[in-house]
Amino acid sequence: MSKVFQATHVGKVRRNNEDSLIVIEPETFVVADGMGGASAGEVASSMLVEAVKNFLTTTPAPWNEVTLVKAVARANHEIWNLSRQNEDYRGMGTTATILYLDGDKAYFAHVGDSRLYRLRDGVLKQITEDHSYVESLVRRGELTEEEARVHPMKNVLTQAVGAMPEVQIDAANFTVRLNDVFLLCTDGLTNMVDDATIARILQTARNPADELINAALDAGGKDNVSVIVVGID
Ligand code: CA
Repeated sequence: MSKVFQATHVGKVRRNNEDSLIVIEPETFVVADGMGGASAGEVASSMLVEAVKNFLTTTPAPWNEVTLVKAVARANHEIWNLSRQNEDYRGMGTTATILYLDGDKAYFAHVGDSRLYRLRDGVLKQITEDHSYVESLVRRGELTEEEARVHPMKNVLTQAVGAMPEVQIDAANFTVRLNDVFLLCTDGLTNMVDDATIARILQTARNPADELINAALDAGGKDNVSVIVVGID
Protein backbone atom coordinates (compact mmCIF):
# COMPACT_ATOMS: atom_id res chain seq x y z
CA MET A 1 0.00 0.00 0.00
CA SER A 2 1.13 3.54 -0.57
CA LYS A 3 0.12 7.01 0.50
CA VAL A 4 0.36 9.62 -2.26
CA PHE A 5 0.60 13.42 -2.11
CA GLN A 6 0.98 15.63 -5.18
CA ALA A 7 1.13 19.35 -5.87
CA THR A 8 2.27 21.80 -8.53
CA HIS A 9 2.68 25.58 -8.47
CA VAL A 10 3.59 28.20 -11.08
CA GLY A 11 5.99 29.84 -8.59
CA LYS A 12 6.48 33.53 -7.93
CA VAL A 13 8.24 34.63 -11.13
CA ARG A 14 7.00 32.67 -14.16
CA ARG A 15 3.66 33.41 -15.80
CA ASN A 16 3.00 29.88 -17.07
CA ASN A 17 3.36 26.51 -15.43
CA GLU A 18 5.25 24.32 -17.91
CA ASP A 19 5.38 21.35 -15.52
CA SER A 20 2.97 18.43 -15.80
CA LEU A 21 2.40 15.57 -13.41
CA ILE A 22 0.10 12.56 -13.35
CA VAL A 23 -0.71 9.55 -11.22
CA ILE A 24 -1.67 6.52 -13.31
CA GLU A 25 -3.28 3.42 -11.87
CA PRO A 26 -1.78 1.16 -10.70
CA GLU A 27 0.91 2.99 -8.70
CA THR A 28 2.64 4.87 -11.51
CA PHE A 29 3.87 8.43 -10.98
CA VAL A 30 5.15 10.88 -13.58
CA VAL A 31 6.62 14.38 -13.46
CA ALA A 32 7.64 16.37 -16.56
CA ASP A 33 9.21 19.82 -16.94
CA GLY A 34 8.67 21.28 -20.40
CA MET A 35 10.83 23.72 -22.30
CA GLY A 36 10.41 25.75 -25.47
CA GLY A 37 9.20 29.16 -26.59
CA ALA A 38 5.67 30.56 -26.16
CA SER A 39 3.45 27.77 -24.82
CA ALA A 40 5.61 24.98 -26.29
CA GLY A 41 6.95 23.86 -22.90
CA GLU A 42 3.45 23.29 -21.59
CA VAL A 43 2.56 21.40 -24.76
CA ALA A 44 5.63 19.16 -24.49
CA SER A 45 5.17 18.22 -20.82
CA SER A 46 1.42 17.62 -21.17
CA MET A 47 2.00 15.51 -24.30
CA LEU A 48 4.53 13.48 -22.31
CA VAL A 49 2.19 12.60 -19.48
CA GLU A 50 -0.69 11.84 -21.88
CA ALA A 51 1.48 9.67 -24.15
CA VAL A 52 2.85 7.73 -21.17
CA LYS A 53 -0.65 7.24 -19.80
CA ASN A 54 -2.00 6.10 -23.17
CA PHE A 55 0.90 3.70 -23.69
CA LEU A 56 0.71 2.13 -20.22
CA THR A 57 -3.06 1.82 -20.04
CA THR A 58 -3.06 -0.07 -23.36
CA THR A 59 -0.14 -2.32 -22.36
CA PRO A 60 -1.07 -5.45 -20.41
CA ALA A 61 0.72 -6.13 -17.10
CA PRO A 62 3.28 -7.04 -15.95
CA TRP A 63 5.11 -3.77 -16.57
CA ASN A 64 8.76 -3.23 -15.82
CA GLU A 65 11.41 -0.61 -16.59
CA VAL A 66 11.45 -1.67 -20.25
CA THR A 67 7.73 -0.86 -20.45
CA LEU A 68 8.44 2.59 -19.03
CA VAL A 69 11.26 3.13 -21.55
CA LYS A 70 8.90 2.22 -24.40
CA ALA A 71 6.33 4.68 -23.07
CA VAL A 72 8.90 7.50 -23.00
CA ALA A 73 10.14 6.55 -26.48
CA ARG A 74 6.55 6.79 -27.75
CA ALA A 75 6.22 10.25 -26.19
CA ASN A 76 9.52 11.26 -27.76
CA HIS A 77 8.24 10.23 -31.17
CA GLU A 78 4.97 12.17 -30.77
CA ILE A 79 6.56 15.36 -29.42
CA TRP A 80 9.34 15.35 -32.02
CA ASN A 81 6.84 14.87 -34.84
CA LEU A 82 4.63 17.73 -33.67
CA SER A 83 7.61 20.05 -33.27
CA ARG A 84 8.66 19.32 -36.86
CA GLN A 85 5.15 19.99 -38.19
CA ASN A 86 4.47 23.20 -36.30
CA GLU A 87 6.78 26.24 -36.37
CA ASP A 88 5.55 27.43 -32.93
CA TYR A 89 6.68 24.18 -31.33
CA ARG A 90 10.14 23.93 -32.91
CA GLY A 91 12.77 22.92 -30.36
CA MET A 92 10.32 22.01 -27.62
CA GLY A 93 11.14 19.18 -25.22
CA THR A 94 10.50 17.93 -21.73
CA THR A 95 12.05 16.06 -18.87
CA ALA A 96 10.41 12.80 -17.80
CA THR A 97 10.76 10.98 -14.49
CA ILE A 98 8.52 7.93 -14.00
CA LEU A 99 8.22 5.59 -11.03
CA TYR A 100 6.15 2.39 -11.09
CA LEU A 101 5.64 0.35 -7.92
CA ASP A 102 4.61 -3.30 -8.00
CA GLY A 103 4.70 -5.10 -4.66
CA ASP A 104 8.24 -4.89 -3.32
CA LYS A 105 9.70 -3.78 -6.66
CA ALA A 106 10.19 -0.26 -7.97
CA TYR A 107 10.86 0.51 -11.63
CA PHE A 108 11.86 3.86 -13.02
CA ALA A 109 12.67 5.60 -16.29
CA HIS A 110 14.24 9.02 -16.54
CA VAL A 111 15.32 11.78 -18.93
CA GLY A 112 16.49 15.29 -18.00
CA ASP A 113 16.94 17.09 -14.69
CA SER A 114 13.76 16.32 -12.81
CA ARG A 115 14.59 13.86 -10.05
CA LEU A 116 13.57 10.71 -8.21
CA TYR A 117 14.68 10.54 -4.58
CA ARG A 118 14.29 7.81 -2.00
CA LEU A 119 14.19 8.49 1.74
CA ARG A 120 15.19 5.33 3.65
CA ASP A 121 16.12 5.20 7.35
CA GLY A 122 16.27 9.00 7.42
CA VAL A 123 18.75 9.20 4.52
CA LEU A 124 17.72 11.02 1.33
CA LYS A 125 19.25 9.53 -1.81
CA GLN A 126 18.96 10.84 -5.37
CA ILE A 127 18.19 7.78 -7.49
CA THR A 128 18.25 9.46 -10.91
CA GLU A 129 21.23 11.24 -12.49
CA ASP A 130 20.63 14.66 -14.03
CA HIS A 131 21.10 14.79 -17.80
CA SER A 132 22.57 18.26 -17.64
CA TYR A 133 25.73 19.83 -18.99
CA VAL A 134 26.99 20.85 -15.52
CA GLU A 135 26.27 17.39 -14.08
CA SER A 136 28.37 15.85 -16.86
CA LEU A 137 31.23 18.16 -15.77
CA VAL A 138 30.75 17.07 -12.13
CA ARG A 139 30.89 13.40 -13.15
CA ARG A 140 34.16 14.05 -15.02
CA GLY A 141 35.57 15.78 -11.93
CA GLU A 142 35.80 19.17 -13.69
CA LEU A 143 33.29 20.88 -11.38
CA THR A 144 32.31 20.44 -7.74
CA GLU A 145 28.68 19.98 -6.65
CA GLU A 146 28.85 23.44 -5.10
CA GLU A 147 30.12 25.04 -8.32
CA ALA A 148 27.42 23.21 -10.28
CA ARG A 149 24.70 24.60 -8.03
CA VAL A 150 25.39 28.19 -9.15
CA HIS A 151 26.75 27.54 -12.66
CA PRO A 152 25.28 29.86 -15.37
CA MET A 153 24.66 26.88 -17.68
CA LYS A 154 22.95 24.72 -15.06
CA ASN A 155 19.69 24.71 -17.04
CA VAL A 156 21.26 23.23 -20.18
CA LEU A 157 20.11 19.62 -20.65
CA THR A 158 22.07 16.96 -22.50
CA GLN A 159 18.90 14.89 -23.07
CA ALA A 160 15.24 15.93 -23.36
CA VAL A 161 12.16 14.03 -24.54
CA GLY A 162 11.00 15.26 -27.98
CA ALA A 163 14.02 17.46 -28.73
CA MET A 164 15.68 14.93 -31.07
CA PRO A 165 14.46 11.95 -33.17
CA GLU A 166 15.94 9.58 -30.57
CA VAL A 167 16.42 10.02 -26.83
CA GLN A 168 18.62 8.19 -24.33
CA ILE A 169 16.44 6.97 -21.46
CA ASP A 170 17.88 5.82 -18.12
CA ALA A 171 15.97 2.97 -16.48
CA ALA A 172 16.45 0.48 -13.66
CA ASN A 173 14.66 -1.32 -10.85
CA PHE A 174 15.28 -1.87 -7.17
CA THR A 175 13.64 -3.44 -4.14
CA VAL A 176 11.25 -1.37 -2.03
CA ARG A 177 11.25 -1.54 1.77
CA LEU A 178 8.51 -0.78 4.23
CA ASN A 179 8.56 2.92 5.24
CA ASP A 180 10.48 4.01 2.13
CA VAL A 181 9.35 7.42 0.89
CA PHE A 182 9.76 8.37 -2.76
CA LEU A 183 9.87 11.91 -4.10
CA LEU A 184 9.53 12.85 -7.77
CA CYS A 185 10.13 16.54 -8.40
CA THR A 186 11.07 19.16 -10.96
CA ASP A 187 14.13 21.40 -10.59
CA GLY A 188 11.93 24.22 -9.29
CA LEU A 189 12.16 22.35 -5.98
CA THR A 190 15.79 21.22 -5.98
CA ASN A 191 17.20 24.59 -7.14
CA MET A 192 15.40 26.32 -4.26
CA VAL A 193 15.43 23.85 -1.36
CA ASP A 194 18.43 21.88 -0.07
CA ASP A 195 18.45 18.13 0.56
CA ALA A 196 18.44 18.46 4.37
CA THR A 197 15.25 20.55 4.28
CA ILE A 198 13.63 18.15 1.80
CA ALA A 199 14.49 15.19 4.06
CA ARG A 200 13.11 16.94 7.13
CA ILE A 201 9.82 17.79 5.39
CA LEU A 202 9.43 14.22 4.08
CA GLN A 203 9.84 12.89 7.62
CA THR A 204 7.71 15.37 9.53
CA ALA A 205 5.05 17.02 7.35
CA ARG A 206 1.42 16.03 7.50
CA ASN A 207 1.12 16.96 3.81
CA PRO A 208 4.70 16.76 2.46
CA ALA A 209 3.74 17.83 -1.09
CA ASP A 210 2.20 21.13 0.06
CA GLU A 211 5.06 21.78 2.48
CA LEU A 212 7.72 21.18 -0.19
CA ILE A 213 5.94 23.64 -2.50
CA ASN A 214 5.76 26.17 0.34
CA ALA A 215 9.48 25.75 1.03
CA ALA A 216 10.27 26.45 -2.66
CA LEU A 217 8.03 29.53 -2.63
CA ASP A 218 9.55 30.79 0.64
CA ALA A 219 13.01 30.44 -0.97
CA GLY A 220 11.96 32.65 -3.90
CA GLY A 221 9.85 30.39 -6.12
CA LYS A 222 11.92 31.29 -9.19
CA ASP A 223 10.58 28.40 -11.26
CA ASN A 224 7.52 26.20 -11.62
CA VAL A 225 7.63 23.53 -8.93
CA SER A 226 6.01 20.10 -8.94
CA VAL A 227 6.24 17.20 -6.52
CA ILE A 228 4.78 13.74 -6.00
CA VAL A 229 5.48 12.04 -2.66
CA VAL A 230 4.77 8.32 -2.22
CA GLY A 231 5.03 6.69 1.19
CA ILE A 232 5.17 2.90 1.51
CA ASP A 233 3.25 1.55 4.49
CA1 CA B 1 11.93 23.80 -14.28
